[in-house]
Amino acid sequence: MVASKQALNPSARDFVPERRSLASLRQAAKTCEGCDLFRNATQTVFGEGPNHASVILIGEQPGDMEDRKGEPFVGPAGRMLDKALDEAHIPRHEVYVTNAVKHFKWIWRGKRRLHQKPSIRQVTACKPWLEAEIEVLRPKILVCMGATAAQSVLGKTVLITKERGKFIDSDFGRVTFVTIHPSAIFRQRDKEEQKKEYRRFAAEMKLVQHKLQSLAAA
Ligand code: SF4
Repeated sequence: MVASKQALNPSARDFVPERRSLASLRQAAKTCEGCDLFRNATQTVFGEGPNHASVILIGEQPGDMEDRKGEPFVGPAGRMLDKALDEAHIPRHEVYVTNAVKHFKWIWRGKRRLHQKPSIRQVTACKPWLEAEIEVLRPKILVCMGATAAQSVLGKTVLITKERGKFIDSDFGRVTFVTIHPSAIFRQRDKEEQKKEYRRFAAEMKLVQHKLQSLAAA
């Protein structure tokens, strides 16, 4: 049954268990073959964080270090994120961090494994895992970090330059906020630009914290 469904329209949906908890989802995702990305990656990198998290931070996909360690946001972008969360007084251990796509997509460039953007088909194939994480956690706010996360959550192409810094509605019925992926800070052309971009990102994390407070008070 699973094999025939996969042949027609492969997706993570065929691997998501009916009885859902973070633990059962994480376990089941280890064997996901919902798209071709499992073939070249070391392992599935599932989301991490507490059951009671009121914020889910969503990135694009695991990077090289995340792929090796099996944990999300443990590389340089993760450290940048930690710093911004700290400044915004959002404890990292109180939020859930995950990615729109759970396997690392890459190509060899010399001796380095270079990140490749996942295709729309791969993002769509992996979306059932994100939907299941949101269903189990029922967070107050979804933070989409970068275009791929925003596309997965909002179901359409999102121009980050246009939507960045805004709280918008999504099909998930959760307050959704759009910002850059922290790795974009490293892509700025010089140190001054990086600092400027980091300041803006950290200020956006403060907006998320204020929104969280206002939702808790409502
Ligand atoms: S990227 Fe997502 S859908 Fe594709 S194999 Fe990995 S977990 Fe499954």
